[in-house]
Amino acid sequence: MKVLVINSGSSSIKYQLLDMENEIVLVSGLVERIGEESGDVTNKVFPGTDRQAVTRIEQTIPDHRTGMELAVDLITDRDKGVIKGRGEICAVGHRVVHGGENFHEPTIVTDEVILAIEATVPLAPLHNPGHLDGIRVAMELFPGISQVVVFDTAFHQTIPPHAYMYALPYELYEKDRLRRYGFHGTSHKFVAGECARLLGKPLDQCNLITVHLGNGCSMTAVKNGKSVDTSFGLTPLEGLVMGTRSGDIDPAIHAFLAHNKGMDIDAIDVMLNKESGLKGLCGMNDMRDVHAAIARGDDKAKLALDVQAYRNRKYIGSYMAVLSRVDAIVFTAGIGENDATVRRESLKGLECFGVQIDETANTSHVHGSLRISLDGSSVAVWVVPTNEELAIARETKLILTR
Ligand code: AMP
Repeated sequence: MKVLVINSGSSSIKYQLLDMENEIVLVSGLVERIGEESGDVTNKVFPGTDRQAVTRIEQTIPDHRTGMELAVDLITDRDKGVIKGRGEICAVGHRVVHGGENFHEPTIVTDEVILAIEATVPLAPLHNPGHLDGIRVAMELFPGISQVVVFDTAFHQTIPPHAYMYALPYELYEKDRLRRYGFHGTSHKFVAGECARLLGKPLDQCNLITVHLGNGCSMTAVKNGKSVDTSFGLTPLEGLVMGTRSGDIDPAIHAFLAHNKGMDIDAIDVMLNKESGLKGLCGMNDMRDVHAAIARGDDKAKLALDVQAYRNRKYIGSYMAVLSRVDAIVFTAGIGENDATVRRESLKGLECFGVQIDETANTSHVHGSLRISLDGSSVAVWVVPTNEELAIARETKLILTR
């Protein structure tokens, strides 16, 4: 069973073709700069498929349809492709950032589902229009093949009202569905499931704190296998300190910037999303660059790391209070999987809550999942690599074989 996973953005399409008999990736690729003067497609065929490794095409890609056609042509190419034709693809799984309150689980695409995703566009204006383009094009290119949507928000639909409501006038929720939704749900659900397996316990008996630290960062409190709180809110801006996003700030900062700096709301929004976080504090948003700068004695880089780790620690502590009993803390994504310093600093001072790090394990460079807490630690700490494409392909397969 071959599943094509698509993450279609406003000007790019990421894709992976997976063989779900044995869960291996056959091809992954990226179509970039759709709608710009010059676009490109990078298509990577994985070892074992006996084909040329990387193909790159540079040309104008006016729209998503052209981009997707180029990708499909590469996948099915007689010489360089890995399948003979589109008919070998059993299903297409789409990542969709925002499902609003309508979607609690992956869903087969129908006309009603498309209408419901369109209705969530005001909640995710930067993401959902690109996803809808990808879905519509895939329906045209793969007629008769099941299309499944997997929402970043779905895992968090179990969060109770006392955790998802903002203390704002109630009409804003009633009329505009203004509330906390949470994102990265596919990743949090995937690593929670993997961690439960590693703990040898059913997921519905596990209390976990899942910590996704990449360019975007978020944390989730998982109680008996279900999300009960998460750090992202109405949008993926609330919560932790990220590469370029501020995370939590005093909401009065908006008024301060408007009154004292003459900034309009769009400029403030751009600043909080693109010019803040690590980049705002030290000018660098890539954690590897931050470490290199710290090694050169850059005080602002050290401060940026400290601010991020301190915010992580505060959230871990608050989720311990939310969960009462914690089986494990799980780190994932680019920083969470690779950065021993951020993990150590994020857990500093939590020994009194039963968190004891094994520094040898923490600093060892092991690919794959690894326990980094001491045997006696009452809260286990794990590093578990995330794999959102595999998670989407699994969900897609599951819904079609149910
Ligand atoms: P992601 O969004 O999951 O791709 O993660 C991107 C972030 O992970 C960037 O800040 C990278 O600098 C960081 N990252 C990736 N590899 C490493 C590494 N080996 N050590 C520290 N940070 C890393």
